[in-house]
Amino acid sequence: MIPDLTLYLAAPRGFCAGVDRAIKIVEMALEKYGAPVYVRHEIVHNKYVVDGLREKGAVFVDELDECPTDRPVIFSAHGVPKSVPAEAAAREMLYVDATCKIVYNDHIEAERHHANGLQMVMIGHAGHPETVGTMGQLPEGEVLLVETPADVASLAPRNPEKLAFITQTTLSVDDTAEVVEALQARFPAIVGPHKEDICYATTNRQEAVKAVAPKIDALLVIGAPNSSNSKRLVEVGSKAGCAYSQLVQRAADIDWRSLEGIRSVGITAGASAPEVLVNEVIDAFRARFNVTVEIVETAQENVEFKVPRVLRETAACPHMHRVPLPALVLGFSGLIPFVIGALITLVPAGTIPLFGLFPSTPEGGVALLERYGTIILAFMAGCLWGFASRHGRKPSWIELALTVVVPVAVFLLLGDDPGRSCSLLAFAFALLLGLDAWFARQVIVVYWWMHLRIPLTIVVTLCLFVGASA
Ligand code: SF4
Repeated sequence: MIPDLTLYLAAPRGFCAGVDRAIKIVEMALEKYGAPVYVRHEIVHNKYVVDGLREKGAVFVDELDECPTDRPVIFSAHGVPKSVPAEAAAREMLYVDATCKIVYNDHIEAERHHANGLQMVMIGHAGHPETVGTMGQLPEGEVLLVETPADVASLAPRNPEKLAFITQTTLSVDDTAEVVEALQARFPAIVGPHKEDICYATTNRQEAVKAVAPKIDALLVIGAPNSSNSKRLVEVGSKAGCAYSQLVQRAADIDWRSLEGIRSVGITAGASAPEVLVNEVIDAFRARFNVTVEIVETAQENVEFKVPRVLRETAACPHMHRVPLPALVLGFSGLIPFVIGALITLVPAGTIPLFGLFPSTPEGGVALLERYGTIILAFMAGCLWGFASRHGRKPSWIELALTVVVPVAVFLLLGDDPGRSCSLLAFAFALLLGLDAWFARQVIVVYWWMHLRIPLTIVVTLCLFVGASA
């Protein structure tokens, strides 16, 4: 007979906002720039996540000098020392910083204290990428590292009256409180963080484990052996009275023999462990036990961090910022007669000062609209392209044809009036070029004339010249 077992799922568990953002950054960079995209260090500490991104084209490296200069590089969620982006900038590399916003706030805090003449003490784990990154915000020797209350006794600050402390974001809340207590006892003037450094996700996951611990015989924490916050969850489980508290990367790591005779198991996941691995573990239990699942929720999370702007901009037009200024000016100039024509038609004559440049009667306005009516068609065609590019695809041949055929058809149809048709053609193309620049990062993509736009600008200028003198 299959034994009964209750699984208590701690909530919140798994991905935090910082990890979610970091993974999105790599995925969006791959989408925008294509593979390979280089990532300095594991973007987050989870083999499953890293392997998944590697399959999509991410290349994980230890140091910047392993990356070529013509491919983008991403810095991990743990943060990097100041020297890293500086080196990337010196090598003219395109880099995207996926440092979690909460870690980034710590960097700012450290810099602020340093600017105020305080020496920093960082509570953290030696060698952890976050500690290395935060300490690397200040010149060497300006940040002293302590891991335990015992380390506090051997601290030798420059001036005990001028100290401030910050902490790694993923520490045990309770252990850190002990270190802080030791610091405050030895250095009463030490300045604490503006806001709690241990992040909301770490705190919430630890609280959920504490709530689950009294109900269970064993705790499984899904996470990587190099994930600080996952390891802290294991410790929190043990300290909360759970005799068997174990870190597993996924279901295959579970030591089933150790769980013999057990009737209740708590499950949680570190901030870098995806929910798919939690489900895998639950399924593994279901295969061996008659499982009842209960959720123990201690907090709800709705934190979200935006990805950097450079990735939010459409991926499809990396060269659009190079659209020449004359094209932009000419493009927008195409709107002027249209707006003026509409105004002349709609408002009483003489209301708008036209300085004799345009007809002031409604009939004249209509004529102006007729004359430049093609512009709106070209505009519509341009918009079609725009929406195409916004959705990350090349414009279809129909959209391409519309954009070209409409102005050319007008040119041919109105061929008996060279001045008018040249103007129309010029404005239509100019408008497209202008829109191309205007919507550069959002809407219009002109794949096929990317290499033609400068000659085209010359054509537009010539057309305008002929139109004006006809
Ligand atoms: Fe940011 Fe906290 Fe997640 Fe680390 S654990 S990435 S600090 S939210």
